[in-house]
Amino acid sequence: MFSGLRERLQAARAKLGISIEATMTPQPLQETPSAVQSVVQNPGVFSEKPTFANKIKTLIIDRELIVSEKELSDALSELEITLLESDVALQVTDAIIAHVRTDLVGRHRKIGESVDGLVVGTLKGALLDVLGKGFDLTEYVRNHQRPVKILFTGVNGTGKTTTVAKIGFFLKKQGFTVVIGAGDTHRAGAIEQIEVHAERIGIKIIQHQQGADPSAVLFDTVQYASSHKIDVVLADTAGRFHTKANLMNQLEKIRRVMKPDLIVYVDEAVAGNDAVVRAAEFDKTVGADAVILTKADMDSRGGAAISIAHTIGKPLMFLGTGQAYDDIMPFSPNQMVEDLLGDT
Ligand code: GDP
Repeated sequence: MFSGLRERLQAARAKLGISIEATMTPQPLQETPSAVQSVVQNPGVFSEKPTFANKIKTLIIDRELIVSEKELSDALSELEITLLESDVALQVTDAIIAHVRTDLVGRHRKIGESVDGLVVGTLKGALLDVLGKGFDLTEYVRNHQRPVKILFTGVNGTGKTTTVAKIGFFLKKQGFTVVIGAGDTHRAGAIEQIEVHAERIGIKIIQHQQGADPSAVLFDTVQYASSHKIDVVLADTAGRFHTKANLMNQLEKIRRVMKPDLIVYVDEAVAGNDAVVRAAEFDKTVGADAVILTKADMDSRGGAAISIAHTIGKPLMFLGTGQAYDDIMPFSPNQMVEDLLGDT
């Protein structure tokens, strides 16, 4: 059953430039930062894949691995491969493996308690530790002083502008009033793009000319919201790379001027490890209170969500699931774990 395990583990880790030696011996339990939460209304985004749990369940259960490190070793290596192949980052994979190992080694199965339940329960716990609690935007807005100011950051092309419109649409459906600030004054056509979105979803937009100072646009947007008793300000910004100091400074100025209540980092689920690195950099330079991953409909694995949640320790708020305004769903750690573990 485990033939070629060492070679497969080597291949999986080689992609990450890691030697397998350490992985064949027990790893200490790493603390996993708390992160993520919410409620999913549309299960199954991450479900069209061979779940690692099905694979691992079979492996562990078939071998009746319950108590000893030695007995668990092969199965944990198999679990490790599956996580790495699902695009879960190395350190996160290690944390999950360590969690499962620590929980199972030396444990005795009660009469009537199935190994199935034991293993799946342990895996669920490990994944929920990584994903944390999530972020309920509706509750946040409901309980926050008006106007709630939300600043969106990220790189070009990831779906940030579309996401601003989707969130506007989502909040409007919840009964909140919303104004959008066209803070991307940098890219040609960006103001028109967000204007078209705003018009379609019936939300007021505040805009200046292309090339204007985005801080001024967003300041005006906040002023408008205050004087018109609008519940939520959604501030679009120009996409930028974390490596461009002048643009990051501009973002820092926006932050000082509009004093956002929430900074939301937007990236693509399909960007894999690039998204993890960028999220960490944005978080370090301008801060991030929550993350939205777009294009989850194009990602069949879900590893990016787990990796980002673990790496920056900030909650995932929503998943973008398509190009329509309705194609967004609150992120649910529980739902995601259910999707990964299958029908358990
Ligand atoms: P920005 O440059 O980051 O503001 O990106 P845009 O909002 O202009 O989006 C770039 C492209 O990604 C557009 O074609 C969007 O329709 C598309 N897009 C945005 N979100 C999603 C999503 O969740 N799923 C899919 N499949 N496409 C998306």
